[in-house]
Amino acid sequence: MLSWFLAANDIDFTVIDNGNINTPSQAAAGLINPVTGRRVVTVWLDDVIIPFAEKVYNEMGSFLNINALSKTTIIDFFPNPFMRESFLKKLSQQALYINLVEDANYMSSYFNYEFGTGTIDPAYIVHLQKLLPAWRNHLLSTNQLISDPFDFSSLVVKENKIVYKDINADQIIFCDGVQGNNNPYFSLLPFALNKGEALIIEAPDLPPDYIYKKSMTIAPFAEPGTFWTGTNYIWDFEDDLPTPTFRSTTEQTLKSWLKVPFKVIDHKAAVRPATIERRPFVGFHPLYKNVGILNGMGTKGCSLAPYFAHQLVENILHKTPIEKDADIERHSRILARTAF
Ligand SMILES: Cc1cc2nc3c(=O)[nH]c(=O)nc-3n(C[C@H](O)[C@H](O)[C@H](O)COP(=O)(O)OP(=O)(O)OC[C@H]3O[C@@H](n4cnc5c(N)ncnc54)[C@H](O)[C@@H]3O)c2cc1C
Repeated sequence: MLSWFLAANDIDFTVIDNGNINTPSQAAAGLINPVTGRRVVTVWLDDVIIPFAEKVYNEMGSFLNINALSKTTIIDFFPNPFMRESFLKKLSQQALYINLVEDANYMSSYFNYEFGTGTIDPAYIVHLQKLLPAWRNHLLSTNQLISDPFDFSSLVVKENKIVYKDINADQIIFCDGVQGNNNPYFSLLPFALNKGEALIIEAPDLPPDYIYKKSMTIAPFAEPGTFWTGTNYIWDFEDDLPTPTFRSTTEQTLKSWLKVPFKVIDHKAAVRPATIERRPFVGFHPLYKNVGILNGMGTKGCSLAPYFAHQLVENILHKTPIEKDADIERHSRILARTAF
């Protein structure tokens, strides 16, 4: 996202990315959901972030000649009477985005369910499996991507200059996801990493027009007839690998929820760069003013990244302020302890 806005503003840049496939961007469903949680609360900055993301993904899709984004509806299956009540209460408060489905049998050809459904609308799916390789290939074709691990021992940060191997730059910005937690400049930030997993299934009889949500989510994937199903949130983990426990519990849940046949074709896992305050980390280091960060996207990279990448580029160009809850300025006291 950052490189998209740098390119759009004719700023010269080089991306260094090792192309690791166990990253959350590769494991994500790509959902943008305007509401969250049991109490169906509208997400942070929904009215600015979501329309902005929609515009950006559509522009990227046109530029790359791919379908980068689909606008869709989430069918919310109430898992129990309390969740139904909670949804109805929210609806009675004239909440945005949600509606009750009156026809109780609406989805009964495809799912087992007892307590009815609501809808969340509009929601979006970013087709990351198409978008990420397409943008990567574009950067390779313009010689703006070095597909290597970043080597901190080759980085020299001077007051007004960055030198990395044979690259001379004005600034360096780290968008290194969970590796930010080990980044010598930013490891003191309050990351709260958590691991998540997903199964990719083939379910050719399931309509691909919706996202389905109960205790887990089923979202259509780019390949027709395939769906992403997940996820879990594990704070105590030893590695970023798929676990047999997730696979068996998810298969069991799918067997009891779905009426149509399905087959598991892949199992993904990755660690999310989440933060204690559930807000991103955006901006420049208080001591090393040419060293920046765009990270901490947590569970919502698809909706947050376009808006905050744009804010960071506007900040570079025009010194415009970054949203204060996202600006790492709020952690300047902690970051002031970074010393080399
Ligand atoms: C199972 C799962 C499901 C999810 N579903 C959704 C969803 O539906 N919607 C949503 O909005 N979010 C979702 N998320 C969260 C979302 O994936 C993240 O918020 C987002 O991907 C973070 O993107 P990022 O670019 O900051 O980090 P990453 O995706 O980790 O990208 C960082 C990049 O930096 C590279 N890198 C790091 N260190 C180095 C180094 N030293 N040298 C070279 N390269 C390096 C990595 O290889 C990687 O390519 C999900 C996450 C998981 C795990």
